Amino acid sequence: MRPIIASISQSALRHNLAVVSRHAPQAKIMAVVKANGYGHGLLNVAQGLQAADGFAVLGINEAVALREAGYQQTILLLEGVFTPDECVAVEQYALDVVVHCQQQLEVLLNAALKQPVHVHLKMNTGMNRLGFAPQHYAAAFDALNASKNVSGITLMTHFATADEAPGIEVPLALFKQATQTLPANLPISLANSATILRHADLPADWVRPGIMLYGASPIGGVPAASFNLKPVMQLHSEIIAVQNLNVGDSVGYGNRFTADKPMRIGIVACGYADGYPRHAGLLVESCQGASVVGDLRGAPIAVSGVTSRTIGRVSMDMLFCDLTHIPQADIGSPVELWGNQISVDAVAEASGTVGYELLCALAPRVPVKLVD
Ligand SMILES: *Cc1c(COP(=O)(O)O)cnc(C)c1O
Repeated sequence: MRPIIASISQSALRHNLAVVSRHAPQAKIMAVVKANGYGHGLLNVAQGLQAADGFAVLGINEAVALREAGYQQTILLLEGVFTPDECVAVEQYALDVVVHCQQQLEVLLNAALKQPVHVHLKMNTGMNRLGFAPQHYAAAFDALNASKNVSGITLMTHFATADEAPGIEVPLALFKQATQTLPANLPISLANSATILRHADLPADWVRPGIMLYGASPIGGVPAASFNLKPVMQLHSEIIAVQNLNVGDSVGYGNRFTADKPMRIGIVACGYADGYPRHAGLLVESCQGASVVGDLRGAPIAVSGVTSRTIGRVSMDMLFCDLTHIPQADIGSPVELWGNQISVDAVAEASGTVGYELLCALAPRVPVKLVD
């Protein structure tokens, strides 16, 4: 078998869930498990997060998979229904729905439901993605509140800059102002991971952590470990070939790396068809154009427990790394692409993206193993 494997740690999921609880002790936790559990496998992460009060997904199929696996918690469709016929499954599987626009609101009001559903009514407080404008929010609330199809309403918004300037002051003020005429004591759901970690003082009946549950950082430049989060996914492979380079020898497609000293390099069984970013470590080159000879930086990688860097362009099924300072490394030596030693966020940073994208992009061809 090709040696690449992703291990998913149940104990790390439980640990990270406990970190959420410590930051939001009064709130119920809606574990966000969209995108196949951020690439970790929906049912794999649900198992580690079974103490969560709810799960948030995008599609009916994910919600049904959770129900059929026996989860009885709240399950929220984060973008609500996409077509009116989905109301049948919402009722059958007792799902909560987001209502984010007038069309969805009318679908719900006009549905022939025997059991009313709980609605998370979304306000657009400035991100301009989903949600009712603040000035239309109370009318949407009143229409839902008067409907026999609705059993209850949670007030919800989502922040664009919880982790950076200008912060959440303006959207939070908009939210408070637009909800102040509504009945008191309605449940509120505001916080994603960055908000949970940065704004512990917010009112919260529900919090909606995603990335922090998987042990990656929602905040650029701030390591997940500094929040006491543990990486859930370990992406490991092995060295499958070794090459010795003379000065002037080049590596990989496009000769993007040329040795300026004698080097020993390893070929790793992991490529972009596994979800590893093709641009890992080539940022400097791409910024400065063709005049730069070679890869200047590389992405971090660990071989036999020793930190190294990738070199050259990542291929579809393989990538290159420097073994010059790791003489004990040879064919069969273990490689960590990301995990406990190499954070996914560090690989992401060297690739011009975020840990979220790398985790979600783990390819279906990579075998996944559950570990405690
Ligand atoms: C994805 C998502 C979250 C989780 O965000 P993280 O940054 O991963 O914590 C929370 N709320 C909504 C509405 C989302 O779409």
